[in-house]
Amino acid sequence: MANINLSQLNISTTKQALAEGNFTASELVVAYMEEINNKNQDLNAYLEVFTDAKEVALKIDKNADYKSLPLAGIPIAAKDNILIKGKSVSAASKMLANYVATYNATVIEKLLAAGAILLGRTNMDEFAMGGSTENSSFGSTKNPYDLTRVPGGSSGGSAAAVGANLALAALGSDTGGSIRQPASFCGVVGLKPTYGTVSRSGLIAMASSLDQIGPITKTVADCRLLYEVIKGQDSFDATSINGKKFNQTSKKLVIGIPTDFLAEGLDPVIKENFDQTVKILTEQGCETREISLPYVKYALACYYIIMPAEASSNLARFDGVKYGLKVEGRDLLDDYLKTRQSGFGPEVRRRIILGTYVLSAGYYDAYYAKAGKVRDLIRRDYEKVFTSGVDAVLSPTTPTPAWKLGEKTSDPLQMYLEDIFTVPANLSGLPALSVPSGKTETNLPLGVQFMAGAGREDILFTLGEKLEQALSLSLAQG
Ligand code: GLN
Repeated sequence: MANINLSQLNISTTKQALAEGNFTASELVVAYMEEINNKNQDLNAYLEVFTDAKEVALKIDKNADYKSLPLAGIPIAAKDNILIKGKSVSAASKMLANYVATYNATVIEKLLAAGAILLGRTNMDEFAMGGSTENSSFGSTKNPYDLTRVPGGSSGGSAAAVGANLALAALGSDTGGSIRQPASFCGVVGLKPTYGTVSRSGLIAMASSLDQIGPITKTVADCRLLYEVIKGQDSFDATSINGKKFNQTSKKLVIGIPTDFLAEGLDPVIKENFDQTVKILTEQGCETREISLPYVKYALACYYIIMPAEASSNLARFDGVKYGLKVEGRDLLDDYLKTRQSGFGPEVRRRIILGTYVLSAGYYDAYYAKAGKVRDLIRRDYEKVFTSGVDAVLSPTTPTPAWKLGEKTSDPLQMYLEDIFTVPANLSGLPALSVPSGKTETNLPLGVQFMAGAGREDILFTLGEKLEQALSLSLAQG
């Protein structure tokens, strides 16, 4: 049996090790299973580990045809709101506790066709509503760097799994930051792709105009590779598109710094790390430029109207008749009430109430319609910046490092404020990448976010790699 050091592996090094015969895909799966066995009790990153993963790996080991596939033998975890045929999928809700997926999400089809091995499904905030994974009906996930702290959310299970070496990579979903924020808290890379470039078919919907599936990985190169595999237009998702192809530019990249937007509410640790990151990128040959995004300060207010409006509509389907839980009442209405009352947790119910309120006849114009207009102004803010010669906008991914478990659960607004830097990308449909940018003195990971014009993931990867390389070099030099 090969001795495999999981902490040293990323997708590229694993592909090489598999090709050179240092270990086999099935040995790798066994190594991950052992590590999950050792650590998952503490972390609660996985809700379920797929016991058939080894069998799948053995098949890959035996069949030479797999060798040329981009993810042959690569073990990957998926967030529990992405459908895998024949497996349970619960969105971490009691509502779907016993629900089994009847088909594969398009991203899963693509992973399997690329030779990937699915390791299991990961914990999350119920129906992806939250930023700490504390809203899961199946217990919180813990931060691998400090078990007393949150891993972020809602894709906290996926980020913690990758950060703790319990998977080589994972899929998450991002409606307002749920890939990027947990990635930054767990010291890994996370991409929210351009809206439409990754199919949402088979993703349990939260807010359809904001949701995107994306990769959570150890390196920027892995993120690029996984994104290449999962993207593409899909006849099962009418909003999906084939992104344009852009040629990599060799010109000096210009990074916009939204100074006014960054002025308030930043933890001093984050501010210092951000300034340091700007300095590093300048040393790496990037030009930085102060920019103004006058409407982006309204992004959070706008998001917390549009998101619950769409979520409340999407969740109307969970009525005790069509999917999942059914609690019998006196009559049909009572069935609905009892089912929804016992199936949904408090945060989900809060958002349904908010959403139906802003959509109600008396308040629609004042809230929902207004938020739509503000959303347009936010889009235009970015359009202006990206057509004026700026290649990417840089900000911290979050205003604070990972907080203590329970610290913000009694005050939902405090939790919502953590989304300030991530929601603009979802409202504007633009791609955004969170990249590790260092650690606090107490060893908590920090991240910065690059955002670019529509379809310009290539710029995000180029900049992400620049930062990653500069940081690993400075680490190596002590
Ligand atoms: N934290 C945000 C929220 O609670 C983001 C959620 C998400 O991206 N799924 O809505």
